[in-house]
Amino acid sequence: MDKKLQQKLIQATDTLQDDTVQILQDLIRIRSYSGEEEEIVRYIEGKMQDFNFDEVYIDGLGSIVGRIGQGPLKILWDAHIDTVKVTEGESWHFPPFQGVIKNGFIYGRGAVDEKPAMAGFLSAGRIIAENYVHTELPFSLYVVGSVLEEDCDGYPLYHLIKNEGIKPDVVLLGEPTNLRVYRGQRGRMEIQISTHGKAAHGAHNQQGINAIYKMMPFVKALEELDKSLVPVEPLGKGSITVSDIMSRGPSLCSVPDFCRIHLDRRLTVGEDKNAVLQQLKKLLDQHKLTADVKIPEYRGSSWKGTKFKQDAYFPTWILGEDHFLVRAAQDTAERVLVKSQASGFWNFSTNGVATAGRLGIPTIGFAPGREELAHTAREELYLDDLQLATRFYSLFPFILAGINRE
Ligand SMILES: [Zn+2]
Repeated sequence: MDKKLQQKLIQATDTLQDDTVQILQDLIRIRSYSGEEEEIVRYIEGKMQDFNFDEVYIDGLGSIVGRIGQGPLKILWDAHIDTVKVTEGESWHFPPFQGVIKNGFIYGRGAVDEKPAMAGFLSAGRIIAENYVHTELPFSLYVVGSVLEEDCDGYPLYHLIKNEGIKPDVVLLGEPTNLRVYRGQRGRMEIQISTHGKAAHGAHNQQGINAIYKMMPFVKALEELDKSLVPVEPLGKGSITVSDIMSRGPSLCSVPDFCRIHLDRRLTVGEDKNAVLQQLKKLLDQHKLTADVKIPEYRGSSWKGTKFKQDAYFPTWILGEDHFLVRAAQDTAERVLVKSQASGFWNFSTNGVATAGRLGIPTIGFAPGREELAHTAREELYLDDLQLATRFYSLFPFILAGINRE
């Protein structure tokens, strides 16, 4: 990218700085819990129309989609616009839905996870839409505000790509990276294991087979298995957590004939659904335990009333450091930041489990905000970082289109 174009884009971004902050404050003020995103979708729809996007629509699930340009390189920017709830137990220093600005920071639910990305996307989109002949752009830029990510990470983009005909070549996620280029994450899955026994009256317990007693040695074995898992770089160690246990019998004065445990399984490099199920099967065999093993299903409904379901499997994904998408992002980051930083990975899960994990589409992330503040009462964002991210977003499609052609 030549210096003149770069200078022009950065200047345009900086003249919009106050507007970008205003958009972020508006977004924080609109409460948008998962499944309740209509108001924020309508707000973004209005902005995209005002900013001269070529096409603006709400998809079948309820996510908002705006397109600029019709060039051959299809770029998808995703910012999920739902947030987790504010619970009664949380103690917020500033009210969570006011977007209070103080000493260069903005505070509130979504101030990190991840409303800044949408504010930056809208301003960067506006700059591109208002300053260029759309038919001459070397890319088609899809700006997506996805719903329901906090409930079922990945599903909104899976739906958009599988059911709505958008086929991106690359994806940029707006999950917080503290202005570093991120290129992967550990995956996760949930598993339910059930044992069956034989019910009997508690007074005649010798006649029964206690499903809980059958399960207990296996629970212990899972604790040991977790300790034995070894780190695989660059994502570290997977993990197994028994997160719930339930049992059922004719009454509380009976021998239970059913016991079920729920597992949270974090997946590192090389651990996928089949490998994990095989590992569990082997452990069950070692304990001579007959049990049902299944991956539970998520079921839900969007603000539009669209029902969805998906198995609780969110694959690990990772993009090589020398992939052209990572190189383009690092090149862009070096132009907007004072010093360059090594690429990194999220600890939490993102919509990349669908785009990269399930569908194999190269995916990266870049956004302001510290991941460790997400889902806490301390969500805060340094507004200068929002401005740097917005500069990144406005340069990135041009740099990517240039690199892609080489
Ligand atoms: Zn998020």
